[in-house]
Amino acid sequence: MRKERGLLIVLSGPSGVGKGTVRKELFSQPDTNYEYSISMTTRKPREGEVDGVDYFFKSHEEFEQLIGEGRLLEYASYVGNYYGTPLDYVNATLDAGRDVFLEIEVQGASQVRDKVPDGLFIFLAPPSLSELEQRLVGRGTETNDVIASRCLAARDELEMMNLYDFVVENDEVHLACDRVNAIVTAEHCRRERVEKRYLSMLKGEY
Ligand code: 5GP
Repeated sequence: MRKERGLLIVLSGPSGVGKGTVRKELFSQPDTNYEYSISMTTRKPREGEVDGVDYFFKSHEEFEQLIGEGRLLEYASYVGNYYGTPLDYVNATLDAGRDVFLEIEVQGASQVRDKVPDGLFIFLAPPSLSELEQRLVGRGTETNDVIASRCLAARDELEMMNLYDFVVENDEVHLACDRVNAIVTAEHCRRERVEKRYLSMLKGEY
């Protein structure tokens, strides 16, 4: 039987929303059935990080060579360092019929959106804006100016969600993971994705 191409799952969202935490929790679960695409970065390893496990750590020159050779699906410069997704790994894994999971920042996600329109784009969002505002006010530690500028930043970040198919609130990590898994399951059942297989069956291809 012909293998269907895997699904490209992109988890992104504003910085500080907890993308890394959700991704790590998902991949610590034994029944998670996606392949994590290990990113390339020019950032120095943090204590405990292992090359080829957490990231592929590259020099600036090596990274720019990868860009020049067109070997990255997407890349972005974030807080002074490059981060990018290896194209060959993603393609080979999808071709083998396995789902690939990217956890990347928003500039990179919008590049993937352009290149892989049938990917699954999930925006991880902070709990509601009003809750966030209430928390900022309620803490009583910030001046009104600081509260106002944080609320403004939160609004800008939330506006980025219009590029995504689904929004997952990260109120609790295990709930956010359950929602991501539910979305992926539903996406696999989407008619447009499965009907090709049934049409092939009807034609007697398998
Ligand atoms: P950190 O340095 O904390 O590991 O990651 C910083 C940011 O880079 C996070 O928002 C993370 O999601 C993002 N990131 C990690 N890998 C990639 C990648 O391959 N491409 C892009 N565009 N962002 C990435």
